[in-house]
Amino acid sequence: QLPVVAIIGRPNVGKSTLFNRLVGKRLALVDDRPGVTRDRREGDATLLGSDFRVIDTAGYEDQDAASLPGRMRQQTEAAVAQADVALFLIDSRAGIVPLDEEIARWLRGSTTPVVLVANKAEGRAGEAGVLEALALGFGDPVQISAEHGEGVADLFEALQPFI
Ligand code: GDP
Ligand code: MG
Repeated sequence: QLPVVAIIGRPNVGKSTLFNRLVGKRLALVDDRPGVTRDRREGDATLLGSDFRVIDTAGYEDQDAASLPGRMRQQTEAAVAQADVALFLIDSRAGIVPLDEEIARWLRGSTTPVVLVANKAEGRAGEAGVLEALALGFGDPVQISAEHGEGVADLFEALQPFI
């Protein structure tokens, strides 16, 4: 039984891009439009010699308001509940939006450990978002670029206690 890592976050923060990078195959559909990844995807990953299972959630997509509709909540709750650690992704370029805060509130009530990840941080583009992310209450975010493969060693370091 491999340790389980669930990738959580609002639409378009790069969850599927990170999943694809970790799993190394194009298993998850990536698209510019929010709401494209309809199903939850799972795949096995190896990072610096550690094997684990990754879940790409699409649960926060397909919603009409800032509240957590049932389907989304169900899927994300199920993934987080079975995970050894949740990677909570934010978009460091876009900064923190109300849905990020709502997800953060919800994650604080979960017993699963959370690693906050500021994606799209290639170059220095994400600095403002990284500062804002501190307010979410999960400490310093791990800065990565899922698209460019930057920050993977830092991500592994943050994950290591849980996998
Ligand atoms: P999801 O909805 O959270 O699964 O997000 P996706 O993985 O589908 O990505 C949404 C958009 O963000 C796509 O256009 C990706 O190419 C883009 N994206 C993902 N990761 C990065 C990154 O590290 N840097 C930048 N600049 N764009 C990214
Ligand atoms: Mg997706």
